[in-house]
Amino acid sequence: MTAYDDGNIFAKILRGEIPCDKVYENDHALAFRDINPQTPVHILVIPKGRYVSMDDFSAQASDAEIAGFTRAVGQVARDAGVAATGYRFLANHGQDGRQEVAHFHVHVFGGKNLGRMIKPVDK
Ligand code: AMP
Repeated sequence: MTAYDDGNIFAKILRGEIPCDKVYENDHALAFRDINPQTPVHILVIPKGRYVSMDDFSAQASDAEIAGFTRAVGQVARDAGVAATGYRFLANHGQDGRQEVAHFHVHVFGGKNLGRMIKPVDK
């Protein structure tokens, strides 16, 4: 498993070293708007703990952290007004998942019809 790097940008946000457009926070999670939104609603939800990815979080996080994080994702979607119309949540992991920031995060996309889940690959 990749070691956690405290220099990643989301760690800096959690320490208050750089700002974020915060929309929600609880004991175990922080949610803020993506700086480069791909959809009308594009929010990132991150655990407050030091977890690299879903692989790390799912294996190492406590039940309380997992519960707090999962509740944050649902609350963020309701607060953003997309729970009724629909949304997608997505987490990239590792090289094939094209994860750019090595602190676990879930993207919450919504506010429009999001189309197909994944672009079909050429056969
Ligand atoms: P991923 O490819 O899943 O690691 O996505 C990383 C996401 O973080 C991208 O959608 C970026 O636009 C977003 N991002 C990077 N830096 C910031 C920042 N300072 N504040 C908010 N979002 C950011």
